[in-house]
Amino acid sequence: MASVRGAHGFQLAAVGAPLQPCQLPALEPAPEEVIIQVAGCGVCHTDVGYAFDGVPTRHALPLILGHEISGKIVAAGENSREWLGQSVIVPAVIPCGQCPACRQGRETICRQQFMPGNDGDGGFATHVRVPSRGLCPVPEPLPSGLTLEMLSVVADAVTTPYEAMRRAELGPDDVAVVVGAGGVGGFGVQIAVALGAAVVAIDIDRERLDLAARHGAGLALDSSAADLKGLKTAIRTFSKNSGRKGIGLKIFEMSGTPAGQATAFGLLDYGAYLAVVGFTPKSVDLRLSNLMAFDATARGNWGCPPKEYPAALKLVLDGKIALGPYIKTHPLEEAPAVLAAVARHSVRRRAILRPNTAS
Ligand SMILES: [Zn+2]
Ligand SMILES: [Zn+2]
Repeated sequence: MASVRGAHGFQLAAVGAPLQPCQLPALEPAPEEVIIQVAGCGVCHTDVGYAFDGVPTRHALPLILGHEISGKIVAAGENSREWLGQSVIVPAVIPCGQCPACRQGRETICRQQFMPGNDGDGGFATHVRVPSRGLCPVPEPLPSGLTLEMLSVVADAVTTPYEAMRRAELGPDDVAVVVGAGGVGGFGVQIAVALGAAVVAIDIDRERLDLAARHGAGLALDSSAADLKGLKTAIRTFSKNSGRKGIGLKIFEMSGTPAGQATAFGLLDYGAYLAVVGFTPKSVDLRLSNLMAFDATARGNWGCPPKEYPAALKLVLDGKIALGPYIKTHPLEEAPAVLAAVARHSVRRRAILRPNTAS
């Protein structure tokens, strides 16, 4: 008996309305699918975009949101049996593996991709049905201090900055500037440190900056206390003293705010590289010609290819990325209030929803 009955979750019925509790129909996996008992599902600003800002989901509403999922496979389709009982992280973007983009190594722009909570019901639920391709196995037992629910943030908040830094070829020669040291940027700082870069963290929140400094940022700058010129001067001095040979800063925008994006772009200098990691539906006013004048590069990434997940997960399992100080777990039943709080930017840590299920 492969189907799962009695699953429930919280769905978005209309933009701007609070999430509503809902019962799921019996979940039956197709041959290439599995049913996951959700251990944890992180709450992302992309969810806020869908719920409150009118960013359209690709699947029509009502829809269960949530694309940052970890859990255990409790049912598997006939071609996915080997996954049964395995604990996994579900990539936020699951490519088809067949199309021209996938075959050319550009899986993140696959047009047949499946994103839970966007192309179908997601992880703000006790169970979720997803394709089995691309799942990231979690080796058990986990190191002490880590739980499967905590690892949900690897699905997006860890792997998206990881992929941005991998594409930037960030390494020991580089100075990395992470703008926004919150939910995603807190992990970004640690990934940059793990890759050997000298790291500058910029935020408007003293507590986040202290945390970044404790986790390896060599310079923590409060952008509410300095203008762009002040930030540039401090970064230039830090870069010089760091002795790194790389030409040009590698700047990672992780705040997902117009102010953070303006700061990140404003820091461009000769040969700089700018990666846009944070998401906001709002626009900013920029002089795009600075890219040309500085011979600079700007790039974005829509998530992370599944094949890179094990390497990102390893950084967490090896203790190079601390999750504990950056996350907070809430019961799934609090989903409507938690999503609203994330929308108000009144949540200090990445929120994880945990269904109240045994085992
Ligand atoms: Zn996300
Ligand atoms: Zn594809």
